[in-house]
Amino acid sequence: MRCPKCGSRDDKVIDSRQSRDSSSIRRRRQCLSCGYRFTTYEEIERSDLRVIKRDRRTHEQFDRRKLAGSIAKAFEKRSTSLLTLEQLVDDIVHELETSGREVNSSDIGAKVLEKLKDIDEVAYLRYASVHQRFGDVDEFVDAIQKLGRRVKKNSAQRELFAVDETQEPRLKAAPSRPVDGGKTNKKKHGRV
Ligand SMILES: [Zn+2]
Repeated sequence: MRCPKCGSRDDKVIDSRQSRDSSSIRRRRQCLSCGYRFTTYEEIERSDLRVIKRDRRTHEQFDRRKLAGSIAKAFEKRSTSLLTLEQLVDDIVHELETSGREVNSSDIGAKVLEKLKDIDEVAYLRYASVHQRFGDVDEFVDAIQKLGRRVKKNSAQRELFAVDETQEPRLKAAPSRPVDGGKTNKKKHGRV
């Protein structure tokens, strides 16, 4: 953003607020050259990005607020600033919109997780458990173990259980058959 006083293009955002209906963001900026403070308003542009849902057949309009909401939920009661979250959503939306007009919902989830991993591991686990983005149970257990003592054992187990139920591969034993298809039995019967 060009400084209205000196024309420099370098500034930093010092405060950021959403309008009541979350349709615009007011940003307080400070010029890094002369220190002048000014305000910008950002409107959220309606995205023409399409999201292909998990069933691979239906798709829907990309909804930034939905994405922001799911991320905010993962950060509930974490000490992460609104600015960080907004930046995170901005980054993800930007990456999605520049990579094509269609995106798989699973790719959005993967992208969110990739970012969360570096920002907040608890938020990462929460998001992953809600959106079931772990490839398998081992991966989830690994992530929990890496978290170590930072998460209370009980909550970790609860989350593990929740994922366990839906993610564990169902290894149902195939109906057992005699190795030689029962021929031996027939022969035996024949001889008798
Ligand atoms: Zn300036």
